[in-house]
Amino acid sequence: MHLHILLTLLFFGVIAMTVTDVVLIQAYENHATEGAISGVRSYSSKIINNIADAGAVNSNTTSTLLQELDNAALFYDGRIILVNNKLVIITDTFDTEVGKTLISEEAIRCLEGTSNSYTSDTEQYVELTLPVTDSTTKDVIGVFIIRASLADIQETKHYLIQLSSIILSFVFLTLFVLALIFSYRLTRPLKRVIETIDHVSEGYLEDKVSMKGYYEIVKISDSFNVMLDKINKLEESRQEFVSNVSHELKTPMTSIKVLADSLLSQDSVPEELYREFLTDINDEIERENKIITDLLALVKLDKKSGEMHIAQVSINELLEITMRRLKPIAQKHNIELIFESFRNVIADVDEVKMSLALTNLIENAIKYNIEGGWVKVSLNSNHKYVFIRVSDSGIGIPEDEQEMIFERFYRVDKTRARATGGTGLGLAITKNVVLMHKGSIKVTSKENEGTTFTLRIPLSFSFNLRETV
Ligand code: ADP
Repeated sequence: MHLHILLTLLFFGVIAMTVTDVVLIQAYENHATEGAISGVRSYSSKIINNIADAGAVNSNTTSTLLQELDNAALFYDGRIILVNNKLVIITDTFDTEVGKTLISEEAIRCLEGTSNSYTSDTEQYVELTLPVTDSTTKDVIGVFIIRASLADIQETKHYLIQLSSIILSFVFLTLFVLALIFSYRLTRPLKRVIETIDHVSEGYLEDKVSMKGYYEIVKISDSFNVMLDKINKLEESRQEFVSNVSHELKTPMTSIKVLADSLLSQDSVPEELYREFLTDINDEIERENKIITDLLALVKLDKKSGEMHIAQVSINELLEITMRRLKPIAQKHNIELIFESFRNVIADVDEVKMSLALTNLIENAIKYNIEGGWVKVSLNSNHKYVFIRVSDSGIGIPEDEQEMIFERFYRVDKTRARATGGTGLGLAITKNVVLMHKGSIKVTSKENEGTTFTLRIPLSFSFNLRETV
């Protein structure tokens, strides 16, 4: 990129300069040549009139006229030849050809009235061949040939070319240095981003880039930092999850070990004690099993919506079946289960996952309830969504903890959890299921009064997908 920018800048810079140079020098040359030729032409027409008036073509040229022609030839650094209508050279400022006959196509054509202008290939001189006409009869009585040097113009042109080459070299050098600085300044922050990305991919996740300067570069560094923050958060939550999982799995193991050790350390343990301890060990194994089952369910849900088995499901039936299954637990605590449905609702859901989510909510409403309390499940819908509400008359959730209950392993009352058999994963699973259905879940709760969870799930899964794309 560095090289690319450098070369591009140099290339366009030099091309622009060279083109301007060539165009300017050419313009000067054209303008100067045209000016010189028109000067010669206007001088010539004046002197031709004098020649015609003096009758100098037929008789001998007067010495004053001759002098004037000599001066003019000297001035134009050229030569003037005057020929009569027989093509005999009457006057020659070089004095070498007088009396000789001029054999020239231009002169012959000029006698017929056509003037001619010729510029040499090297643009060193211009030669005008002009007719001398009698002022009264208008007959062509001779030919006036003037050659004027353009060497001055060529010299100036060469001088300009030399000067411009020097300027161009300076400009080239300056451009080179500027391009070098500019491309370096442009690529340096990018190099730093690359270095930081390399560093981050080696595992140094704390590295941040901070860059000032061009808007785009600042944007890149900002986006990179946002991405890094996300990676860090993910990494943090992964570490927290792993540590929580280890802790949760270790607790029942420790209990089992303590129970088994105390049995082994005693001689002749009575059978009832064996039974009691083994029942406890059995409970702990069951708890361990539940945690692992919940964890597996959560991991499966994390594999995203590719795993969804969407079908048209009657939500009324789904809720009735779930509540029937949970009835024994409710009865155990003398809790009344109420189902309220405003209409028959059929929605596109993954039946197994949705059943898991609803079971968790209703089971929680029973678990965190009071003896003789109630749990009310109500179902409603509009043209777009299903609304499911699970309310209870239970212990409630403190306001500052309501946000956290959806986190994995989060439990409000850690000590109660063992008694209720909770793993802290239930609501995390429910939330995941709801999100997979592009729905939302909300909680409102008051301590010692009760809790209400409200679910909103789109009726049509494909419609919703289209909407979110
Ligand atoms: P658990 O397996 O502990 O029930 P959850 O993820 O299902 O885990 O719930 C997280 C925590 O939220 C529970 O430990 C409990 O403290 C609180 N909670 C959930 N539902 C209710 C409810 N209906 N009433 C009161 N507290 C609740």
